[in-house]
Amino acid sequence: MTLRVKVLASSLGVTILAMVLLGVLMFRAHRATVLAEAELRARAFLSMLSVASTGPLAAGRIEDLDGMLARLIERNLEDLDIRFVVILDAQRRVIGHTDPSQYGRRLSEGFYADASEADSPRVREDGDVLLVSAPVFTAVPGQPGIRWGTTVAGVGLERVRADLLGLFWRAVLTILIVVAIATLIVGSRLERLVLRPVRRLTEATRSFAAGDRAARAMVAGDDELADLAGTFNHMAGQIALHTHRLEEEIRARTRDLEEANRRLEALAVTDPLTGLYNRRHFEHVLSLEVRRAQRMGTRLSLLMMDVDHFKRYNDTHGHPAGDEVLRALGRLVRERVRSTDVACRYGGEEFTVILPGTSRTDAMVLANDLRLNMEAHPFENEATQPGGRLTISIGVATYPADASDEVALVRAADQALYRAKENGRNRVEVAQAD
Ligand code: GH3
Ligand code: MG
Ligand code: MG
Repeated sequence: MTLRVKVLASSLGVTILAMVLLGVLMFRAHRATVLAEAELRARAFLSMLSVASTGPLAAGRIEDLDGMLARLIERNLEDLDIRFVVILDAQRRVIGHTDPSQYGRRLSEGFYADASEADSPRVREDGDVLLVSAPVFTAVPGQPGIRWGTTVAGVGLERVRADLLGLFWRAVLTILIVVAIATLIVGSRLERLVLRPVRRLTEATRSFAAGDRAARAMVAGDDELADLAGTFNHMAGQIALHTHRLEEEIRARTRDLEEANRRLEALAVTDPLTGLYNRRHFEHVLSLEVRRAQRMGTRLSLLMMDVDHFKRYNDTHGHPAGDEVLRALGRLVRERVRSTDVACRYGGEEFTVILPGTSRTDAMVLANDLRLNMEAHPFENEATQPGGRLTISIGVATYPADASDEVALVRAADQALYRAKENGRNRVEVAQAD
């Protein structure tokens, strides 16, 4: 059941109840007034009748009563709603009646008995008729009056009842109209003051929950709902702010993490002494490049170089001096190769350079270039080396001419290097077919 139905049902229930209670009270009051009026009219008529009948009653001129009654009936009865009039003597005998067939009857039961006994007027509702009585006295100044008889009038209640019925229907109509107006007023106030703000709050909450962080509830006024909307908006603002800050922080952390990862990746493939790629990376890249050359039908050359008589240099000048030579050689190699070439420290004082898309001839040119640069580079205390200089020997092998895969290519370059050593060092040798 919606809020609208609940509130309308209870407010209308209260309205209807109040209207019905009010209606009942007013109806009863009105009924009492209308009856009192009928009674008053009847009593006025009876007092006139009593006065008029005193003489004939006292004198026993009953025939005079008939004439009087006939005149009264002619003049008044219809206007006063009086259906019948009865005149009783002291023995409760009917000595005058608007219905002549009633003459002579003794009425000693019920209301008539009570009315004949009583010194004052009596009133009683009897079916469709209101019975009203009045005693007939002869008033003698200074003496108790003589009771001659009683007059009774029967007032028809049809007009009273029709009046009350009309009132009843007007009351019902009024209740219906009031309820309809109350429904309209309560409904529209409910819509404006409660339902619309609640709908706006619900929509804003839903949108916010669905991820729209700019969602706010627009509720004007200074009541509890406006207060609630204000609290919600404040909360939404705080959450949006915190979420924004959190996202910023996550972005910054992610950037740091990515940077750290990049550094870690670089470290994982870098030789710390020379800054060249390490052996692991060399093997990885060589296998990729051989496969690529295979796929594209291109060539690939590999240089393998080794420092000549390096043990002697280490033994003579110490390992730190030897390390410095290796670092310098690393720089020399890095400066000479292209960006697509991959220079690595293969291990100890051995270096390799992968030369994608490079022929044997071009590889030899580069190898000789490197060798001459090494020879020309001044090293501390190199005079103690054989020939007075620090030099390198290089073996060159080319895919697919010298080897069918990367393992064979490394072997071929290594063998060429051995030959360079055998043939006197500080030279370049190319791989030879077995
Ligand atoms: P050859 O001309 O035949 O290559 O003679 P060699 O003395 O260079 O050959 P060998 O392989 O016997 O010696 C290699 C030496 O390289 C042994 C070792 O002292 C030195 N070495 C290997 N790794 C490092 C290094 O990281 N730092 C230094 N300072 N020396 C190294
Ligand atoms: Mg060696
Ligand atoms: Mg060596």
